[in-house]
Amino acid sequence: MSPLAPADVPRTQDHMWHDLGIPEEIVALRGEVRATVTEKVAPYAREIGSREESVDSFPWKAFRGLADSGTFAIPFGSDFGRGLAHPLLGTCTATEEIAYHSSSMAGVYDGQCILVPKALSFASDELRARVIPGLISGELVFSFATTEPDASSDLSVESMRTTATETADNFVLNGRKRWITNSAVADWAAVLCRSGGSMTMILVDLKHSDGVRIGKPDLKLGHRGQLTSDIVFDNVLVPKGNVLGAVGKGLSVSLACLTYGRIGIAAAGVGVAQAALDLAVARLRSRHLFGKPLGAMQHWQYRLAERATELECARTLYQKAALRVDAGERAPEPEAAMAKAYATRLAADMARDAIQVYGGYGFAREVSETGETFRLEELYRDSKILEIFEGANEIQHWLVARQLIGRDVTG
Ligand SMILES: Cc1cc2nc3c(=O)[nH]c(=O)nc-3n(C[C@H](O)[C@H](O)[C@H](O)COP(=O)(O)OP(=O)(O)OC[C@H]3O[C@@H](n4cnc5c(N)ncnc54)[C@H](O)[C@@H]3O)c2cc1C
Repeated sequence: MSPLAPADVPRTQDHMWHDLGIPEEIVALRGEVRATVTEKVAPYAREIGSREESVDSFPWKAFRGLADSGTFAIPFGSDFGRGLAHPLLGTCTATEEIAYHSSSMAGVYDGQCILVPKALSFASDELRARVIPGLISGELVFSFATTEPDASSDLSVESMRTTATETADNFVLNGRKRWITNSAVADWAAVLCRSGGSMTMILVDLKHSDGVRIGKPDLKLGHRGQLTSDIVFDNVLVPKGNVLGAVGKGLSVSLACLTYGRIGIAAAGVGVAQAALDLAVARLRSRHLFGKPLGAMQHWQYRLAERATELECARTLYQKAALRVDAGERAPEPEAAMAKAYATRLAADMARDAIQVYGGYGFAREVSETGETFRLEELYRDSKILEIFEGANEIQHWLVARQLIGRDVTG
């Protein structure tokens, strides 16, 4: 029998990785979140990653399990949450641990606990007091919405079609957002809109505003538990007090959130790569071919030695980027862009390698005669989106090149 999920296999991280220079509070947090995820996410992870998307398939049990265990409080200061000295590193570490079992769930967590908390750091005290307790308890679900059918990598005001028109007391929203994580069940969304010749980010009460329509969840290759839908706004009134940051400064608010988000997605990539590596190592030890373990083949020794080295680099990169943010730096480049592109490519490469190690068993969803089911195909399907969303990897390379060569040359 082959292992069913990473929960069944030894974590190579435990003897290969050293928490050198990582704050004590984060070392302790990793242990705490690992125990939580093992109990609250892992039992449902295969189902979350496999079933077809519908409103009913939102992973409530895992979502509520994480919230009840205090995992949603990690990004917030002591006024509402944990008050960690390193909140982004803490949130990213939690994301990695969640992704180890469910990359979908890490996507859900990234929206609720990385993108949106950063967006809410621009909200008024009154608005923060109104919504943050519900976010932390999991009673309220949040989305972050910049993408539209014709705008995502290019978030310029020329491309943006969703408009926010100012009246005496309100903004009136019209337009359509696409691929919005959690929106199928969300209570609130931070929405980037064109307002005049610039952009403004606004928090919209999705459940209590006339003129909001949420589309059916999209049907995707992977990340099936991370439901995405269109949000359509038809003359939706939003109070002016719901503006995040200043009117006209929405692009810089969005980009600040997406900087946090790309470090989180790097951490998710590390979790996926670690899971695939551990599954591959377990198979190399247990599967015998030509009278010896598969792991005796030098090809796989070299390949996995390279992947383990890359994993070390990827984890170090995201941790360094997060530590720079937690130290007060607003633009943790080049590390954030390097981490996102490097870790997510590694996740896809390592998932592909792990399938190769398992042969036909890696390719199968289930062996019908035995009922054996494997997570490799899920890791492979899930890994692809990590290279695309929250800044396609080509954009990350561009960000690094701008710093390396100079914006005067790269544009
Ligand atoms: C599962 C999922 C969840 C998502 N969640 C959210 C969410 O919660 N909120 C939200 O707002 N959006 C979300 N998105 C949208 C996501 O961020 C976009 O799909 C992504 O940014 C790419 O945009 P696009 O699909 O419009 O592709 P395009 O912007 O058309 O880009 C297509 C491709 O063009 C290439 N490209 C782009 N820029 C450059 C460049 N400068 N140089 C070279 N090549 C380039 C890249 O290869 C890129 O993949 C989600 C998408 C998915 C599938």
